Amino acid sequence: MENGTTLTKKKWGFSGNSDLTEEPETTIRGALTLLMSNLNISDDRPVIPMSLSEPSAFPCFSTSHIAADAIAEAVQSTDFNGYPAAEGILPARRAVAEYLSQDLPNKLSPDDVFMTMGCQQAAQTILHVLGGSKLNILLPKPCFPYYDVFAQSSGLEVRFFDLLPEKNWEVDLDSVIAVADENTVGMVIINPGNPCGNVFTYSHLKKVAETARKLGILVISDEVYGHIVFGENPFVPMGVFGSITPVITLGSISKRWMVPGWRIGWLVTHDPDGILKENGIIRSIKQYFHISPYPPAFIQGALPHILAKTNKEFFSGVLNIIKKASNSCYEGLKDVPGVTCPTRPEGSMCVLVKLDISMFEDIKDDLDFCVKLAKEESVMILPGMSVGLRNWLRVTFAIDPSYLQDGIKRLKSFCVRHSKRA
Ligand SMILES: *Cc1c(COP(=O)(O)O)cnc(C)c1O
Repeated sequence: MENGTTLTKKKWGFSGNSDLTEEPETTIRGALTLLMSNLNISDDRPVIPMSLSEPSAFPCFSTSHIAADAIAEAVQSTDFNGYPAAEGILPARRAVAEYLSQDLPNKLSPDDVFMTMGCQQAAQTILHVLGGSKLNILLPKPCFPYYDVFAQSSGLEVRFFDLLPEKNWEVDLDSVIAVADENTVGMVIINPGNPCGNVFTYSHLKKVAETARKLGILVISDEVYGHIVFGENPFVPMGVFGSITPVITLGSISKRWMVPGWRIGWLVTHDPDGILKENGIIRSIKQYFHISPYPPAFIQGALPHILAKTNKEFFSGVLNIIKKASNSCYEGLKDVPGVTCPTRPEGSMCVLVKLDISMFEDIKDDLDFCVKLAKEESVMILPGMSVGLRNWLRVTFAIDPSYLQDGIKRLKSFCVRHSKRA
């Protein structure tokens, strides 16, 4: 019998997929793992997690009891013990259609809705459906990182257009036109914005739709932060412009209801002129759901109740805390040397902050900054390179207010300590 050493020396016929061995900081989870491994365990202070838009751990952000009760009822009813339909159960699809139609000129039908395991699976699905060799997709820079990963694994070439910090992170439409060609299938926007914390205006979204129409491409709109707005611009869903160019909306209850662990979301087609249907997209989406996993039936069963019955007080209460947090974050950052916040955050749960590396004595780049900050101050902030912008930082402010204050204070003393002497 062969012993352990000869087994390890043997040449095996398998190895990890090389697509899955990227640098850790190119995904959010990878960057977080790196930061966590650098935390100093002998620091008695609590770790301040300003790196992940995941506030559900803080009691002030716990979900509505109405949502929790709906889940319990769905389980106890025993109505949802069987396999759900591949595209989602009809009551759940109808509930999403009604929920989203409140803000749309053209009413959605349940047939426009597909249930997914969070917004993440919705994104993966549409990129898979659009994928193919020689085709390309346009992503914003900066971007929530997994669009890049999903697009590449679907065989799509990724091209980036710019978001403009000096224009409140609006899409640079000229850069969209410059990178598009006859093999471009679509463009992705994220509104309200992650990582930028911006909210697009009605007139800007209309221009995005008109640009896409000119190019003959569809718009994929990630609206996972839909309605989480607290500035001047109201939330306008991209589906409003579905008659200008076909739109696919991705969303979930993860962020608005603070339940990312429940894994339920949706992919919705806005296709009043039947263009997606004519071009085989709807058929491909249906086919894809025949082979992909789906959210648990009882969560789908609870969804109509969650969407229709959650009270306004829950939303306004949470929004109030996030708004205050965004303000104290923005004001607090003004006092931190070496960082500048180009715009006041108006939506989502985070903001992008520019780092002036030349101000610091011994910091190489944003990743180095974040690793040292984790080590020395037990504060976790996401390096900009994880969202495609080197020497920026993504700061999440949706955490308990006392943690946020403490986090900004520690960030400030870190920056002062590492600043070049005058
Ligand atoms: C959190 C987040 C997602 C993932 O949402 P899930 O519903 O948890 O899958 C997708 N897009 C953006 C921009 C996010 O911030």
